[in-house]
Amino acid sequence: MNTDWTLRAACAGHDQPDNWFLEGSREGRAAAAICRRQCPVALPCLNAALEEEDGVPAPHRFGIRGGYLPEERHRIQTGRRALAA
Ligand code: SF4
Repeated sequence: MNTDWTLRAACAGHDQPDNWFLEGSREGRAAAAICRRQCPVALPCLNAALEEEDGVPAPHRFGIRGGYLPEERHRIQTGRRALAA
């Protein structure tokens, strides 16, 4: 997998990287906002997460990736499967 996009990630070098694992908190919402508003690689980040988590139940997914919570990514994947069926 080509991961060159990670070099441009808005979370890379952030002084509070744990915020991306504080889903449901004020810090987690701020992290998701950075993903959605400031990160130039949000789409490849989301796609990588969806690829890596394919078949993984929502409770076994962790962190905010591509601006989306684990359960949101699970719903995206479920929707994609329904459209492809
Ligand atoms: S979308 Fe969010 S988690 Fe993904 S690389 Fe960008 S800042 Fe990091």
